Amino acid sequence: MRGGRVIVVGAGFSGLACALALAEAGADPLVLEARDRVGGRTLSRRLPGGGWLDLGAQWIGPTQDRMYALVAAYGLETFPSPAHGAPTRLLDGRPASEEPAGLAGLLGTLDELAAGVDPAAPWRAAGAAEWDRTTLGGWLDATAGDRVVARYAGRLLAGGLLAASPDEVSMLQMLFYLRSGGGAGSLLGMAGGAQQDRIVGGPAALARRMADALPPGRLRLGAPVDAIAQDACGVRVRAGDEVHAGDAVVVALAPALAGRIRYDPPLPALRDGLTQRMPMGAALKVHARYPAPFWRADGRSGVATTDTGPLTETVDNSLPGLPGGVLTGFSYGAQARALRRLPDAARRAALCDALVALFGPAAAEPEELVEYDWSADPWTRGCFCGLLTPGSWCDYGPELRAPVGRVHWAGTETATRWSGYLEGAVTAGERAAAEALGGIKSQENLRYVY
Ligand SMILES: Cc1cc2nc3c(=O)[nH]c(=O)nc-3n(C[C@H](O)[C@H](O)[C@H](O)COP(=O)(O)OP(=O)(O)OC[C@H]3O[C@@H](n4cnc5c(N)ncnc54)[C@H](O)[C@@H]3O)c2cc1C
Repeated sequence: MRGGRVIVVGAGFSGLACALALAEAGADPLVLEARDRVGGRTLSRRLPGGGWLDLGAQWIGPTQDRMYALVAAYGLETFPSPAHGAPTRLLDGRPASEEPAGLAGLLGTLDELAAGVDPAAPWRAAGAAEWDRTTLGGWLDATAGDRVVARYAGRLLAGGLLAASPDEVSMLQMLFYLRSGGGAGSLLGMAGGAQQDRIVGGPAALARRMADALPPGRLRLGAPVDAIAQDACGVRVRAGDEVHAGDAVVVALAPALAGRIRYDPPLPALRDGLTQRMPMGAALKVHARYPAPFWRADGRSGVATTDTGPLTETVDNSLPGLPGGVLTGFSYGAQARALRRLPDAARRAALCDALVALFGPAAAEPEELVEYDWSADPWTRGCFCGLLTPGSWCDYGPELRAPVGRVHWAGTETATRWSGYLEGAVTAGERAAAEALGGIKSQENLRYVY
């Protein structure tokens, strides 16, 4: 086998893209996936009347070139997010027709600062140490000049982009993310931005097709990896009762989950320290299904933002050509955790009340309210992605991608472009595949024989 055997841990988009790149290069990938399905942080639920709900990731947008290429290569199609009607906005609990004055200026300043951050090495930016110890919340309080603007911007940026509260996020993390996703306009936008398109059948359908394209027998589901050992001869990866040997391993997981695997020899202190300092975000994504998209009748788009209440934003997720209307709401950080602490009935009542505050009494009684708790899922433990805590980028950032011997790191968190997104997951997987092959090639002899 040209290139050697590489074991890939995780069959999310990153692990799948990695394994496909390895197979394409003539190597022998073996993917070990903990769940009984592929796709990781993507998951669709079929609807009785046709169509589906995306419980995890759903959008792709311009400059996410690998994702569009994969959609086309695997015979799927995209469709645009609805673009009609006016957005709904509540500021300080009152309807507002405009964005708060000063928001555009703040976003512009953040983009200017982000331009000075190399997404491959944020710790090298001028002022990196200061940005690392400054939280986004603190910076907004000092800069926005207005309490409502600071709160609105904090929820939009820390919440909408990172699924965190503004005080949990360092400025360096925020600037890295802005730079990695092409700036605030690109990240926050619907048409022309990251929320432009959806995939027919959902991204989970694409993940299944990618898995089907792997060489026969090279994917094992229900195989949670619990130990990885390496020595001069190769790697041995244990998943329950099975032990698989290879020349290298790519761990295609969020760092927080990668840190739960036992390594022999133990990981270097700084790499383990990184996994201790990169918790997952906290988002609650909830779909409210109605008999019809009633909000369109009064010229509303279904896109809403607010600086108060448990939901930060909503979108119209109704499917074109199918009956019924879907409003999808998002709650982030402290608000999402507060909702999770409520008993089911109280949480659902709080979510319906928040929808009523935005869209009126017609929103009060959806036919169905569909949630999926990614934080409770042992193979994800939060979303959208892992974030380095304030103060950690400078000390631990360099460990994010640095291989440890034969162990290489993938997962969207390791991407430099579109980190946190499906696109970043794919490019990170492909980067790690090349890196693992390069590492094997650079051994004098391939000592592991199989
Ligand atoms: C609610 C939500 C909304 C989102 N919205 C968007 C969006 O609209 N657009 C977008 O681009 N991105 C979005 N994202 C982010 C996107 O889903 C992720 O960036 C991407 O899916 C990450 O892929 P990954 O392969 O890096 O990691 P994952 O998808 O987490 O894959 C890791 C895989 O490893 C498996 N695993 C974990 N531990 C082990 C173990 N010990 N052994 C073996 N296998 C293991 C997991 O089961 C999983 O399959 C969203 C995410 C969520 C949850």
